[in-house]
Amino acid sequence: MITQQAAGHPRAAHAGRAPAATWHTSGSPLVRDVPVSATLAANEAMAARRARGQPVLPLAFGEAGLPVHPALRRALAAATAANGYGPVAGQAVLRAAAAGYWQRRGLPTCPDQVVCGPGSKPLLFGLLLAIGADVALPRPSWVSYASQAAMTGARPHFVPTPPGEGGIPGPAALAAVVTAAAAAGRRIGSVVVTLPDNPTGRVARPATIRALCQVAAAHRLIIISDEIYRDLVHDEAAPLLSPAQVAPQHTVVTTGLSKSLALGGWRLGVARMPDGPLGDRLLRALLGVGSEIWSAPAAPIQLAAALAFTEPAEITERIAASRSLHATIAQAVAGVCAAAGLQVPPPQAAFYVYPDFEPWRAHLRARHQITTSAGLARLLLDRYGAATLPASAFGEYPGALRLRLATGLLCGDTQEQQAAALTAPNPLTTAWIASALARLDLILADLAGRARRSSSCPPTPGDPATQGHPQYGPQP
Ligand code: PMP
Repeated sequence: MITQQAAGHPRAAHAGRAPAATWHTSGSPLVRDVPVSATLAANEAMAARRARGQPVLPLAFGEAGLPVHPALRRALAAATAANGYGPVAGQAVLRAAAAGYWQRRGLPTCPDQVVCGPGSKPLLFGLLLAIGADVALPRPSWVSYASQAAMTGARPHFVPTPPGEGGIPGPAALAAVVTAAAAAGRRIGSVVVTLPDNPTGRVARPATIRALCQVAAAHRLIIISDEIYRDLVHDEAAPLLSPAQVAPQHTVVTTGLSKSLALGGWRLGVARMPDGPLGDRLLRALLGVGSEIWSAPAAPIQLAAALAFTEPAEITERIAASRSLHATIAQAVAGVCAAAGLQVPPPQAAFYVYPDFEPWRAHLRARHQITTSAGLARLLLDRYGAATLPASAFGEYPGALRLRLATGLLCGDTQEQQAAALTAPNPLTTAWIASALARLDLILADLAGRARRSSSCPPTPGDPATQGHPQYGPQP
């Protein structure tokens, strides 16, 4: 029961103020303490620095950082008269287009299997809510899965990814975690795979996908395959196997337009429900959730999105250009990190790099008292204006000295720069990308130099890290 607690409340003692009312329920707090998502919070911190005229190196926010394709702008402009709510599952034309999109990727799909939402994020939340059990997540994995699970009252169970891979729980470890959870009275009902992965930029191997599908079948887990980066695999010929191709009756696939077409602000995502009876039940449940939370995605956006999912040549050409640009920048950033002495898995997709500062652990501790990824991210932001996300935001242990660098915003600060980067024969030679890479290089050199001076490792003669770069030193 909800009661009002006013009389005798400490704030009632404040002179001249009405007593504050504290609302509470008998069992749980009425207002849960849900912090702003780490990526959005980092973006806001960066915007505040910029507004103060301080330099920033924007590597925190997973935004594609490219302009809207003109054909999509025209389609949206032509659709503004669409003012009806429309069906909860989405407009028929969009569902048919999304079905065709999956069909072309080896996943036969009927439009009735498609649910559209205002971004794939709310669809993922709706799925976790509908499934209503604990969820197994790869460690590391995208920030929102664990938070969303907690918001539904479920518990996330992190399972390490196999060495060299990302976005997938190790299959044997997953089986062990599900069994141990059951013994402790917790039912894990689903497992998330991020294919390709954010934060690592890696693509799970088909053999691992197959093994995971076997474990999921044995333990009756629904697989949620988040494939929002699927069209941004750097090497188009690289093998990518969706769990839905292996376990079509138990896999939900989600995707959207936020990454491949840089339409995050348009808020449009789609989910492909499993084939068969489980899919029917999940579809009904997801529609129930959608009907009570978002009703339907914005109608004009749906009509423009239908054009995107039909993939006319001009759209596939744009996606190909974005893929190539993101690959070039992400690989260059990984190169800078590796040259500085960090361990960095080569990025295979999207615009993420996940360097490990483990080789600098002793230096970072001795010089800066840094022992956690959160401390490292804070140091980079405060000292150099470099916004990154700590590994701890992705479910890693606090002491894992890894950071996620999101490279999409290096494409350019303005739409003109972004458009020029898309068509540049060598984007790395554009002034803004070259200077961002040089800046990262100097920041890492400075960080390593400070660290090395304080450690027992003598500086290498001529090493730029030891020469000092006052412009990237501490800021007031
Ligand atoms: N999944 C992953 C792995 C993501 O990185 C993101 C965006 N950062 C999303 C889902 C959500 O994207 P949207 O809601 O814009 O479709």
